[in-house]
Parts: sequence; C-alpha cells; structure tokens
Amino acid sequence: MTRPADARTYDLDDLRDRVRGESGGAVDDSIPQLAEADPDLCGVALALPDGTVRASEQADVPVSVQSAVKPFLFALALVDTRGEALDLIGIEPTGEAFDAIKLETGTGRPPNPMVNAGALLTAALVDGGDVDGRNERILRGLSAFAAQDLVVDEDVARSEHLLGDRNHALAHLMRAEGTLSVSADDAVAVYARACAVLVDVRALAVMGATLACGGVNPVSGERVLPAHVARDVVSVMATCGVYDGSGRWMRSVGVPAKSSVSGAIVLAAPGALGGAVVSPPLDDQGTSVRGRIACEVLSAELDLHVFGRR
Ligand code: GLU
Repeated sequence: MTRPADARTYDLDDLRDRVRGESGGAVDDSIPQLAEADPDLCGVALALPDGTVRASEQADVPVSVQSAVKPFLFALALVDTRGEALDLIGIEPTGEAFDAIKLETGTGRPPNPMVNAGALLTAALVDGGDVDGRNERILRGLSAFAAQDLVVDEDVARSEHLLGDRNHALAHLMRAEGTLSVSADDAVAVYARACAVLVDVRALAVMGATLACGGVNPVSGERVLPAHVARDVVSVMATCGVYDGSGRWMRSVGVPAKSSVSGAIVLAAPGALGGAVVSPPLDDQGTSVRGRIACEVLSAELDLHVFGRR
C-alpha cells in the first residue's frame, strides 16, 4: 500500500492538470449569468487545520456560491433557532433532484436542508426580522465562515429571484402546509441572494475547513459555530449533500460535501481539512464533472475517505 500524500505539500496544479482534460458535462443554463460561465474554468484549494490555505491556478476566479451555501445556511439557522430548525426540517436523503416539488409526507416539512425546499426554510429561519435583516445576517455569517468579507452579485440575485419558478412553487407549497412563516416571495428573495454570494475556491475551502474543524475557523481563529452544530451540519452533508448522487459520492469520495449548479463543490473532511473545487460543466445530478473526479483523486491520494482506504 502506498503512503498517502501530505496535504501540506500536495501538488494542486498537477491535480488540476490531471482533471482539466475531462470534457464531459454541461454548464447550467437556469439563469443567463450561469450560462455564460467559462466551461474551461478549473480551480482547486485546500484549507488545513493550521490555517494554511493552498490553491491551484485559477483559484481566485469568483463564482456564485449557489447550493454550496446550503450547509452554511443550515448552520446559521441551527444557531439562530437554538436547534429548533432540527424539528422544522427533516434530515433524510430524498433520492430526488435538488428542486423536486415535494415535501415530507405527513409533516409537510422540507425533506432535508440540502435540497431547495430545506434551504428556502433555513434562509427564512435566520435572525434578522425582515428580508434586509436576514440578508445582512447571512452575508455576515458566511463571511465569518470564509474569514473574509464576501459580496453579493446583484445581477445573479435578481435573476435567481425572478427566474426561480420552482423555488417560488416550493415556498408557496410550504406556506400551504403551514411550514413557512414568512411570505413566499420573501423566502425566495433571501435564498436567491444567499445563492448569489461570490466565492472563489480559497474562500470556499476555508468555509469547509470551519465545518471540518468543529466550528472554529482555522484562518481567523474565530469560533463561528458550537462544535455540536458543526457535527450536525457535516452529518447531513454526508447523507444529503450531493442530492440524488449522495450514495455514489459517499462510496467513491467518502468525504462530506455539497455540490452546486455553478460547478462549485465544498468539502469538509472532519479533523483533516476543508477543500473546494470549481469547474462549471455538470453531470445529470448537478455535480461538477471535473470536481467529482478531482475529489475522488484527492480522497484517494490524501487518504480522506471517512470509511478507510481501498
Ligand atoms: N440557485 C439554484 C436554485 O435554487 C441552486 C441549485 C444548486 O446549486 O444545486 O435553483
């Protein structure tokens, strides 16, 4: 058995070169700004528990965070509701697409916080009082995870809000079931703006590392979350983070993760590191094609699979 590589010296440009030739998948076209993404973009970063952040070429290209924001919205909702969010949202994988118009049978709750129904609710549960207040709380919270001041792409936020018909449908369905207390439009507005926060792979890797390090941001040293909340969030990433591809992901990569339509993937390998890959072409389940391959290689070569080596 070969020895695992050391994350402190691992060659991320070489990894990028090894996956860049993969040409499968298609760039998301749900909003014009995502459809214009560069299909050749490919960047990888790792954030280590000692606060070191290492990155490949193209690590500083910003993309909208999209669904990679969902673990962090869940985290903020858990903190702000003092755990009540766990009663209001399920934590079971759905085996269905991220935007399936479906709630938990019997309860009318969103099935889990990693699909759109759940994230519309977590975004509505954070403190703030109104849309502006919640937007502000989310941007400040995400910035604490990233150890830098993040900003919103206002065009993306507008498009997500205007064109997110399935999200409006889900919000109305939750209103009808009595599981969403804010107005449907307010819920979509806040969620849309959270999806439009700009990150590069470095920032996203640090966000993942904060979860992997039990809620302490290894770059800023700030405790962003109680350890038990970080554990809850990472657990649900492991079971639900890659939508209807979560089982395959756990087997082949074995690292809790969250995928997104911008082609970003955030990784939280507990106690080991946070990581991120951005490459826009997606497979049928909305996961970055090169991102998946890069994560499989990283997991194997850095020995990150939570259930051990092959
Ligand atoms: N903003 C996207 C939506 O709600 C996010 C989906 C994703 O990244 O998987 O449709």
